[in-house]
Amino acid sequence: MTHAERRAALEAIAAEVRTCTRCRLADGRTNAVPGEGSPDTEVVLVGEAPGFNEDRLGRPFIGRAGDLLVKLLGSIEWRREDVFITNVVKCRPPDNRDPEPDEVAACAPYLARQLEVLDPALIVTLGRHSMGRFMPGARISQAHGTIGPVDPASGARDATVFAMYHPAAALRGAEVERQSYEDVARIPQVLLDLRARRAANGASPAGAGASTATPASNPADDAANPAPETHPALAPAPASAPAADITIF
Ligand code: URA
Ligand code: SF4
Repeated sequence: MTHAERRAALEAIAAEVRTCTRCRLADGRTNAVPGEGSPDTEVVLVGEAPGFNEDRLGRPFIGRAGDLLVKLLGSIEWRREDVFITNVVKCRPPDNRDPEPDEVAACAPYLARQLEVLDPALIVTLGRHSMGRFMPGARISQAHGTIGPVDPASGARDATVFAMYHPAAALRGAEVERQSYEDVARIPQVLLDLRARRAANGASPAGAGASTATPASNPADDAANPAPETHPALAPAPASAPAADITIF
């Protein structure tokens, strides 16, 4: 898929989410929160469900937990617009209760379709509920900071999961916050390793997907179009860089 096709596909999913009534969470929402970020990213962050602020504005992770998430990303010189940020459930549960299993099941096809479009190399789960989708049976106290294989049935056809604590948990405890900074610091190297593995498997580095892989190219082409050595998300943003447009889906 091209950039324009991915963007349009994500916008189509978001439009469906905004008017969705597949579960009872539609009743209490102000705005559904489809997700936002770069259509070209290799990294998708998945939280649990929108909270009060997210519901008000229709954007993920914009309250205090979001501020900490941005700080965590900043510690590896990434910006939120370099990745794609979404949630397991797209509408706010009343009083921030945990989403019920039937609500998670009703909403699951949206995340699956987003993952199909984005074809990420890395899925970063934020908190237990998101981790449960991608690392069934894992315990967050053991699994945070570790990777695991992602079942292609999730929609992500060649991805690895990296578990982190939820930033709201890090706000509640200094030790979890310290662990979160330690965990996030591992992500750039994890991504480099995955990129190398996916390139060896024939997927293009920017996530174009093996199904659209270009025919075997001759060495001269490779020299003219070398694979990018680092994803823009890995490169420190120059202080003078203009803020990238944020794409809100
Ligand atoms: N917590 C989440 O899990 N998701 C959000 O979008 C905000 C807070
Ligand atoms: Fe639809 Fe998901 Fe919102 Fe339920 S939570 S109404 S399934 S978008």
